[in-house]
Amino acid sequence: MLLLENARIRAQAEKIVARCKRLATFSEDVGSTRRTFLCPAMRDCHREITAWLNAAGSDVTVDAAGNLRGFYAAERRNAPRLLLGSHLDTVPNAGAYDGVLGVLIAVALLEALEGKRLPFGIDVVGFSEEEGVRFGTPFIGSRAFVGRLDDELLNRRDVNGISIRAAIEDFGLKAPEIARAALSDDTLAYLEFHIEQGPVLESLGLGLGIVEGIAGQTRMEFIFLGRSNHAGTTPMHLRYDAIAGAAEWIVAVEQTAKSHPGLVATVGRIEAAPGATNVIAGNVRATLDLRHESDEVRGRVADMLVRQAEEIVARRGLSLRRKLLLSQNAVAMDPFLVDQIAEAIRRTGHQQHRMVSGAGHDAMILAEKVPAAMIFLRSPGGISHDPAESVEMEDVVKALECGLYLLDQLASSGLQKRMCRA
Ligand SMILES: [Zn+2]
Repeated sequence: MLLLENARIRAQAEKIVARCKRLATFSEDVGSTRRTFLCPAMRDCHREITAWLNAAGSDVTVDAAGNLRGFYAAERRNAPRLLLGSHLDTVPNAGAYDGVLGVLIAVALLEALEGKRLPFGIDVVGFSEEEGVRFGTPFIGSRAFVGRLDDELLNRRDVNGISIRAAIEDFGLKAPEIARAALSDDTLAYLEFHIEQGPVLESLGLGLGIVEGIAGQTRMEFIFLGRSNHAGTTPMHLRYDAIAGAAEWIVAVEQTAKSHPGLVATVGRIEAAPGATNVIAGNVRATLDLRHESDEVRGRVADMLVRQAEEIVARRGLSLRRKLLLSQNAVAMDPFLVDQIAEAIRRTGHQQHRMVSGAGHDAMILAEKVPAAMIFLRSPGGISHDPAESVEMEDVVKALECGLYLLDQLASSGLQKRMCRA
């Protein structure tokens, strides 16, 4: 049994939080945290984590996609490997825990092993890029793991005209070696600890959550077309007001979302033209972001919202244009791993709660190739992507306990055979 006594687990948890805060000081910006794909601050981040990983008995490399990988060997050669990790990049003005916490929990799990070897090796992964800030394309690091970092992606450029390929070379890595970053056939599974970044666990009074799936997403743009005219001389019954039409639809979006359990729908951006106080708007652009764990429900609601928009514009004498920007299917986490996480949380003596992640994560990309699962830690105040982002020390303690029980369970007999996908 791998479990440490309480005082040592607590000391480990305190170390994790202190390390998260230290890594948050490595930034492209003065006074706030911002660490985008292979920026100079990422090198400092790699240096620190490498020292911790080396001390814990693992060999560290950085692959051609900029992912930091610390390999902790198994008790025998040629054993399969388990991947544990999350991402090391951040949004601008970030908190200290999004991504980084999952990497440092993985590091602490290796430390807790104190050199004890398991039937599988452990690869601690710090993905180079998940947020999509620098190139407008998320998951650069994990895409390399599943062989989807292709030429088209490598040629994408940031605002300074630097391509992903050039950023890789500038960091001293070799873009032509990206294929070697792909997952090896001996990979058993991927596990990721991550802050929830939402208010659900806190509202339930729970420290940990078991992620069963990652919601699918639809993004669309709607354009409501009316007729601009004078705000003083056009009587109310003779108007074709695009803003009023869009507003009626936006309220309908909210109502429809509320009547479908688990569905979230957001109109996050509206733009009205000509945009003057004394002119009736002739043209309104509105975005829609729709997410649900079931692709069938998401598709049905998307159709319903289109019909509602069409009905509203017809009744008001307006017209409508729309464009599909993104349709991404939901991703299920591996049911066997989900059950193992539930069992590990039960063994820590805490209540289990299964949930769907509304946000995308590296686990969603890895799930294309290997069994993947996630454990969420409560986000106090539901706050993330902000310097006020935090974690409860008690929850980090629970996460470590859960992680140690998980390693213990996964190390037990017969498991590796079950987890290997033919
Ligand atoms: Zn994240």
